[in-house]
Amino acid sequence: MLERKGVAVHEIFVSGGTPAWDAMTARTGGRTTPQILINDEVIGGYDELAVLNAQGILDDKLGLESGAARAMLYDVIIIGSGPAGMTAAIYSARKGLKTLVLAKDVGGQLNISAELENYLGYSSTLLLDSRVVECEDVLY
Ligand SMILES: Cc1cc2nc3c(=O)[nH]c(=O)nc-3n(C[C@H](O)[C@H](O)[C@H](O)COP(=O)(O)OP(=O)(O)OC[C@H]3O[C@@H](n4cnc5c(N)ncnc54)[C@H](O)[C@@H]3O)c2cc1C
Repeated sequence: MLERKGVAVHEIFVSGGTPAWDAMTARTGGRTTPQILINDEVIGGYDELAVLNAQGILDDKLGLESGAARAMLYDVIIIGSGPAGMTAAIYSARKGLKTLVLAKDVGGQLNISAELENYLGYSSTLLLDSRVVECEDVLY
């Protein structure tokens, strides 16, 4: 993420039991890697960095101009989250584009389909049913 923003990153590789590890834990309080510091400020790991980015705070910390304003800009805005919208969103996000999906539901017409007779990529809807159960397991 930092490299994508054009920020120079200095990486120090550490492993447990070494002086570098002891220095990292003493400086950051963290016992996992990565531990990220920006201008000597301890940020935490990648998750904390991503939260700062989503809040529009990261660019300010990095000294990039108009961070808050840029946080509101998207590369792609997709309206609707039926199969077409969700597919577009997945591929857009996979390409690293900042993507926003605006929708009143998730699934589109699939939500009102009593039965799916076919679906792209599945030779049988029995397979699809088992994947839906897997997804429900993950979601709930
Ligand atoms: C009863 C039924 C059975 C079907 N069975 C099958 C099947 O077996 N196999 C198959 O392949 N296809 C089936 N289909 C068709 C399949 O569901 C559609 O082809 C597919 O859902 C179309 O996807 P879509 O993303 O283009 O549009 P949609 O699924 O219609 O999604 C449109 C999205 O846009 C949103 N939206 C619309 N207007 C606005 C707005 N103004 N602002 C914001 N959001 C908006 C909607 O809320 C929705 O999220 C079935 C459809 C029905 C109704």
